[in-house]
Amino acid sequence: MTDLKKYEFWFIVGSQDLYGEETLKEVADHAKAMTLEFSGDALFPGRVVLKPVAKSSSEVRKLFEEANADPACAGIITWMHTFSPAKMWIQGLGLNKKPLLHLHTQFNRDIPWASIDMDFMNLNQSAHGDREHGYIFARMRLPRKVVAGHWQEPEVRRRIGVWMRAAAARLDGIESVVVRFGDNMREVAVTEGDKVEAQIKLGWQVNTWGIGDLAARYNQVSGAAAEKLAAEYAGAYELAEGLDSPGPARSAMLEQAKIEIALREFLETQGAGAFTTTFQDLHGLPQLPGLAAQRLMEGGYGFGAEGDWKQAMLVRAAKVMAAGLPGGVSFMEDYTYHFEPHKEAALGAHMLEVCPSIADKKPRIEVHPLGIGGKADPARLVFDAAPGPAVLATLVDLGNRLRMIVNEVETISIKEAMPKLPVARALWKPYPNLREAAESWIIAGGAHHSVYSTALKTEYFRDWAELMGIEFVLIDKNTSPVRLRDELRWGEAYWSAFGAGRL
Ligand code: MN
Repeated sequence: MTDLKKYEFWFIVGSQDLYGEETLKEVADHAKAMTLEFSGDALFPGRVVLKPVAKSSSEVRKLFEEANADPACAGIITWMHTFSPAKMWIQGLGLNKKPLLHLHTQFNRDIPWASIDMDFMNLNQSAHGDREHGYIFARMRLPRKVVAGHWQEPEVRRRIGVWMRAAAARLDGIESVVVRFGDNMREVAVTEGDKVEAQIKLGWQVNTWGIGDLAARYNQVSGAAAEKLAAEYAGAYELAEGLDSPGPARSAMLEQAKIEIALREFLETQGAGAFTTTFQDLHGLPQLPGLAAQRLMEGGYGFGAEGDWKQAMLVRAAKVMAAGLPGGVSFMEDYTYHFEPHKEAALGAHMLEVCPSIADKKPRIEVHPLGIGGKADPARLVFDAAPGPAVLATLVDLGNRLRMIVNEVETISIKEAMPKLPVARALWKPYPNLREAAESWIIAGGAHHSVYSTALKTEYFRDWAELMGIEFVLIDKNTSPVRLRDELRWGEAYWSAFGAGRL
């Protein structure tokens, strides 16, 4: 799993020479004290690194040039303790390539009523210094997150932490590649997309490998290695009857173990963060990777079925954002509906590949036939998703831009036994309700594939989309499909006029 501590977030505090040495030293001391506290707070997943107080155009420019050149720098937090004339920031911000967060805070929480004088006012004037700073972001149409409030408030820190996770996922996406085994499922539209644009816009390197390369590696995995992994399975999951003794079912599980080993080695060799498979291209493999795909997702890899590289990378981005948080992240598909009045719900699942990180109880390995693809019966983990609030997020390519759509849902316990459905599944009630959520999702062109997460709230995906400069559409308890249709039309004009990144 990704260690987010490897990511640095530069804290740049702005001022100007006008104030004199004594005041500037106080500014620097305050920034240091804040950074120390930030460093010890688990709400911040990455490391906050304090930079010298920026007092002139050349100092600002130099800091941003250094940030661009530093691969560990995942984002930049700015704050104007005093007044820092914003023309000094134009060159630096103009060349900046890192995600930005404008922290609008003040060192002291309270006004010291009895002792306050003009010296105090001049030192603690972010209330107007940050407005000058905010103007230049707006003037330059720069994507950024604005977080206002006292820096010791947990809510302020939490919101910075969310942005840090989104920024870490961006950098991870630039550093890793998507391995596609074969192409997209034939004739499917929504899993297609412009891979060049995805690399330009999101930094994702999406490339293909022949399934034969994986099959060759599969054939080299020893029986002993598969048995060793099967022992790990027995410790982590329940095994269905017949899986703990020799026979066809155990052999099927051992084949998945070999696929897992081969896949993991392959992905490590390529520096991959995500991968896709397709049941239409499995030549040389005995089964569709089921258990293997589930296990790799559980370990932090992104995954997309039927060649869906966009959701594969989005699963990966969500895995990075969710590192260390309670709850899970999985590839998901809207499968079938329950339309009983007042109990409407959607049943999400996939043929096999749902991540056990979202499971309610210990998953169980089972082996059953798969009615598609014409391969051997695959082993898979079977479980119900844990109940609670969750989000579905998807990414679609509209030709001139990428659009992210998020739907907030409430996952509920599955009361009925489904003995003839041996797959992992999640049952949820979408907001505002099934009818309006489904209409909104479909109006927006949302895919049947998505990322499902109980670890992440909407804010993570909104921050991610914001710093990527892509469109973000939310379906929540306030959404009306009629209004959404109008908003999407306005958005069409906006995105056509300004393009991505000009926010
Ligand atoms: Mn599918």
